[in-house]
Amino acid sequence: MSSVPAPVPTVSWRADGTPFSPRFDDVYRSAGLDGHGGLGQARGVFLQGCGLLPESGAAAAWAHAPHWTILETGFGLGLNFLAAWHAWRQDSERPTRLFYTSVEAYPPNPSDLLRSAAAFPELAGLSRQLATQWHGLVRGFHRLCFERERVVLTLIVDDIAPALKELAGRCDSVFLDGFSPARNPAMWRAETFGAIARHARAGTRVATWCVAHEVRERLAQSGFQTERVPGVPPKRHALRARFSPVYYTKTQVARTDAQPARCIVIGGGLAGACAAWSLAERGWRVTVLDRAQHPAAGASAVPAGIFAPHVSADDCPLSQLTRAGIAATQARAARLLRPGIDFSSDGVLELHLPGKRRLPAWWDGTDPATATAPESLGPQCTLTLAKARTAQVELSAHRPALWHTQAGWMRPAALVEASLSHPNVTWRGSTHVAHVLPEDGLWRLVGGDDRTLDRAELVVVAAGCATQALLPDGGLPLRALRGQIAWGPWPAGADSSVLPPFPVNGQGYLIGRVPGTDAPHWVLGSTFERSGRQPVQRVSAHAANWAHLHALLPGSAQTLAAAWRRGDARAWAGVRATLPDHLPAVGPWLDETSRDLGGAATALGRGCSPREKTATSASPRLPLHLCTALGARGLTLAVLCGELLAAHLHDEPLPVARSLAAHLRASRYATRVVRRG
Ligand SMILES: Cc1cc2nc3c(=O)[nH]c(=O)nc-3n(C[C@H](O)[C@H](O)[C@H](O)COP(=O)(O)OP(=O)(O)OC[C@H]3O[C@@H](n4cnc5c(N)ncnc54)[C@H](O)[C@@H]3O)c2cc1C
Repeated sequence: MSSVPAPVPTVSWRADGTPFSPRFDDVYRSAGLDGHGGLGQARGVFLQGCGLLPESGAAAAWAHAPHWTILETGFGLGLNFLAAWHAWRQDSERPTRLFYTSVEAYPPNPSDLLRSAAAFPELAGLSRQLATQWHGLVRGFHRLCFERERVVLTLIVDDIAPALKELAGRCDSVFLDGFSPARNPAMWRAETFGAIARHARAGTRVATWCVAHEVRERLAQSGFQTERVPGVPPKRHALRARFSPVYYTKTQVARTDAQPARCIVIGGGLAGACAAWSLAERGWRVTVLDRAQHPAAGASAVPAGIFAPHVSADDCPLSQLTRAGIAATQARAARLLRPGIDFSSDGVLELHLPGKRRLPAWWDGTDPATATAPESLGPQCTLTLAKARTAQVELSAHRPALWHTQAGWMRPAALVEASLSHPNVTWRGSTHVAHVLPEDGLWRLVGGDDRTLDRAELVVVAAGCATQALLPDGGLPLRALRGQIAWGPWPAGADSSVLPPFPVNGQGYLIGRVPGTDAPHWVLGSTFERSGRQPVQRVSAHAANWAHLHALLPGSAQTLAAAWRRGDARAWAGVRATLPDHLPAVGPWLDETSRDLGGAATALGRGCSPREKTATSASPRLPLHLCTALGARGLTLAVLCGELLAAHLHDEPLPVARSLAAHLRASRYATRVVRRG
């Protein structure tokens, strides 16, 4: 029998405490003659090299900036990141938000991160926070948020070339770090510097400990002016460079981020509230208009729902998106909501029901006791039988299960209300918007009675299915998908083991324990009905939910049977908005190239006169934006969509890969309409 070779450890530690990579046959950092190990290099070479430490009375380069973006080519053990975060904390003139984007093909274990930082007491607290979020790092983009989302680490787990290809936005500083050119030549290729130049703007500074001739040459060929400076021992020299090419592209000349001004968001559900929060955080004065009297009156009024990753055989865009969405939702919930009352992130059990959708090969209904998720899915998907058994959830070979560690339940209305409580956000209910018109370089919002409701530089339409009515005819092909849940209090006198303590999902879900004012509640959902755009409750849907509980969790159905017969189970119905590709629509309705058509196209939706069309010629500077079509996954995706919208507007690094963000562009449908016209 041939033996399987042992996996190569990412980090091994030498007796003198030097971290070493067996894969690259190189050290992460030398033990150091500077007395500070790698921290001396992080500060002396990288932070100082990019002008990020205030020196002799002069402010750091990032002073007072709304946001600052550092791009690093090799995360390694994270010392540069921790040093930059520490410097940001110490600097009273720090930028409002620090985006640190780093590439790492082989992320170390959290224990190695902690061990690496242990020598530097000032970093201990920060490295512990980093280690807590260091999980599920499969290939792709991962966003880790610290300091109330003011310090954002985007870790791209991939090789350098594909990682830089998937990056969007400009960077202000570049840390060229990684194993030496002799050990890791792929990282120091000319293509890497060309790609970095595409993400640079006038004055972007670069720093590295590597002074190799070919590195200086390639930087110069890519438009950087280089300078050799004294290094941090044991290195004699270090390198600094500044982006100053002979010719700039339009976006390299200066910052292209939008200047915060007035913004109106139409729709006060999850999509609108999360977009409003993300923009308010970036300095916009946001007014949220809704035809309803109070926030979260549409689909977001569902009493509670689950957030959990979508799993697919081919890890399709929706699956990738939900992983990013959950990270964003958890960060925001931890910041704004009350754990255990408004939400819980304690995991979700996903059961597979026979005859339903195709499963990934590794989750194909074989014995659940032995089935395991592939390593690439990380600890997010680890089958757990013990957890299910203690909760009296029946598993069998025909009902394989996945335990999603990063998942939970939430009350959407709580997130909506918390988001709208931002000091830069104003709520205006009972306000029906009939039209959005461009006028004198602004957007004018008109009510049903043709009265002007408000004007603003930016408008975001987040009106669920009603979004369509505010866009040109035949625009966004939104479909209404009616849904109904059942919910009720725990049966009187029931003890805590009466229903599963975690949500159980499987083409529908049971959330067994949502705290209520008196007793805890259970929530059972939900139906998917194509007929009808009205959120009316139906007896047939109520019966369907009950039948589904029998299929999903027969034991729980038995527990609730008497209460159900007595009519204690209440129903709630709502309407989801979906697009044919089941993905949200985020960003400008008409993309950059067709922006000047935005005014006329929007006015056309209202059937305006030729005179009106002429009057609309002074188009607003910012096109109409959308944030909608969250479908059945608003709890998972709303926060991410709000951040994506704001990141596009502010030329920030995107929270997901560029190709994934492209799947969500609202204009993917609009472009076709414009071409036809
Ligand atoms: C039964 C059911 C169960 C669900 N369960 C889950 C779940 O477990 N997990 C999950 O992630 N998702 C779930 N969802 C989906 C989730 O609720 C939605 O994705 C999400 O709430 C959509 O938010 P939204 O802001 O886009 O839309 P909405 O919440 O519908 O908000 C749209 C808002 O726009 C306002 N509006 C519309 N037109 C106008 C106008 N012309 N002028 C002014 N205001 C206007 C409306 O009044 C409304 O408040 C469920 C949905 C349903 C129906």
